[in-house]
Amino acid sequence: MRPDPVFVITGPSGAGKGTLIRALLERVPVLEVAVSATTRPQRPGETDGVEYHFLDEHAFVARIEEGAFLEHVQYVSGKRYGTLRSEMQRVADDGRVCVLELELEGALRVQEEVEGSVTLFIAAPVEELERRLRERATESTGEIEDRIALARYQLEQAHRFRYMVRNDDLARATGTLTAIVEQELEFAATMAAS
Ligand code: ADP
Ligand code: 5GP
Repeated sequence: MRPDPVFVITGPSGAGKGTLIRALLERVPVLEVAVSATTRPQRPGETDGVEYHFLDEHAFVARIEEGAFLEHVQYVSGKRYGTLRSEMQRVADDGRVCVLELELEGALRVQEEVEGSVTLFIAAPVEELERRLRERATESTGEIEDRIALARYQLEQAHRFRYMVRNDDLARATGTLTAIVEQELEFAATMAAS
């Protein structure tokens, strides 16, 4: 039997991944986000267990050793992020379809290793990314510069993913993303029934 699809959303910081995923979940209710673990500090307004499972370094390393992660990375900030197998199982047990929001290396790893993964790269021009990150103001100036340097490299890697969605106009990007996801879900359902 073909596995359920797993949607992997990737792209540079500030591209609008979080914003687009929120809009997508409202339009396609079968989707559910598998909440990652991270060692980065909680931002104002974030809740443990909702945006991330916030762990300290010691707890994160212990989870690596247990084999709890499908993939994990150390980001430009030096902080760790990882996809919890238990979260993906929770989504499947709910009868829902999993969405992962991952940086580039993690997305490539999942694309290689997870049958049924559908990768979508969210893109926006570098000057616009910089403007959005400064306006969002959730990172220090130094960290924004590191994220922008990484973004330049990541934008060159867009071709390695199944789909690319340009998020210049939010309404249009939401429409494009929703149409792709609905088409992939329909394809998977048709294949499962045949
Ligand atoms: P990411 O999750 O990729 O880092 P966010 O979803 O947090 O990005 O978006 C970064 C910032 O840009 C947020 O303040 C968000 O409101 C804003 N934003 C997202 N999409 C657009 C868009 N199409 N036009 C203008 N601002 C946007
Ligand atoms: P932020 O600190 O802005 O929430 O996330 C920084 C980056 O980490 C983003 O590109 C986000 O997609 C990525 N990220 C979040 N969770 C995971 C994860 O579990 N694995 C990987 N590889 N990247 C993640």
